[in-house]
Amino acid sequence: NVSLEETKKLAKRIQTNFEHPVELPGKSLTLSCSIGISHFPKHALEADALLNKADTALYYVKERSKGEYAVYHPEMQEKTLELILLENELRKAIKLEQFDLDYQPKIDFSANRLIGMEALVRWNHPDLGKIPPNKFIPLAEETGLIIPRGEWILRKGGQQNKEWQRKGYPPLKLSVNVSVRQLTQPTIVDTIKRILDETELEPKWLELEVTESILADLEQAAAILQQIRDLGVQISVDDFGTGYSSFSYVKHLPIDTVKIDASFIRDLDKNEESKAIVRAVLTLANALGISVIAEGIETEEQLAVLNSDGCKQGQGYYFSKPLSSKEFEQYIKKF
Ligand code: C2E
Ligand code: MG
Ligand code: MG
Repeated sequence: NVSLEETKKLAKRIQTNFEHPVELPGKSLTLSCSIGISHFPKHALEADALLNKADTALYYVKERSKGEYAVYHPEMQEKTLELILLENELRKAIKLEQFDLDYQPKIDFSANRLIGMEALVRWNHPDLGKIPPNKFIPLAEETGLIIPRGEWILRKGGQQNKEWQRKGYPPLKLSVNVSVRQLTQPTIVDTIKRILDETELEPKWLELEVTESILADLEQAAAILQQIRDLGVQISVDDFGTGYSSFSYVKHLPIDTVKIDASFIRDLDKNEESKAIVRAVLTLANALGISVIAEGIETEEQLAVLNSDGCKQGQGYYFSKPLSSKEFEQYIKKF
């Protein structure tokens, strides 16, 4: 019979062992290890129920901070109930069309030109107000609801972009976030093709933003991205620098743009390390003929550093917050 204290010590020991990357030929993998703990006989008497409670604790950890451990607590069960309710709301929301897209401008600041916009999904809940994507995208992924939702986002954004072009505004590139779960759908290429046909949007005015986690399975990722790129659609790697991919991955991948993560931009004018990373990304991208855009630019100072390092494109509150389609149309007129 092991005491709870001993169990915690064991959890810590296991996690310490995960702190070092696993070295494989040609790549080094950093793994995280989250642990949920339940205790006999305190939390349950039967094996099934014990596992269930440990699982609840595990979900609790993963939702908050990966790589930690937690001991089961009845309050955690309530959280899970909250999640169930949220999932039901999410299903309803799809039927009731409670979703909308905001558009955040992307600027070529070397030429003071509006070059495109990122579509950012919003959930307008009648009681809860605007729910930010970080709150429901993970759930939508887990439940598979991201598949129909993602398709809707692509279609809606594509239609809107085409409409602005029909109105005679200079053509802009629309960026749409797609999650790994969407990309690994066998039908993804057909879906994109169909939406391009339906909306009559030329492929070159569409870009997909994918996160580095897609790169985890390099071979599969490269094949899918290549097929999408063969349609004429561009590929951008979002939140670049935060994932576990090394720079050397990039040259094997069919991508057009890397989007330097906001965390490196935030302290760019103060932190030498961030500055060095941004420079390294710019140098690498230049050598490979890949475009670079910086996200999360908020201040003049950050922009000045980027400018002096030769970065040309950016996105962030400094230029504009994400805008409703009406507001965005007004914004286009300013250029
Ligand atoms: P992301 O793709 O990296 O999007 C950038 C996020 O940074 C957006 O948050 C945007 O509003 C915010 N942002 C932009 N400029 C600034 C700035 O200057 N300062 C700060 N502090 N924040 C800034 P948002 O809209 O809450 O979206 C969060 C994440 O949710 C997105 O990160 C993306 O990963 C995901 N997401 C959003 N829309 C979609 C979607 O349609 N499909 C999928 N699969 N994911 C989406
Ligand atoms: Mg994005
Ligand atoms: Mg990002």
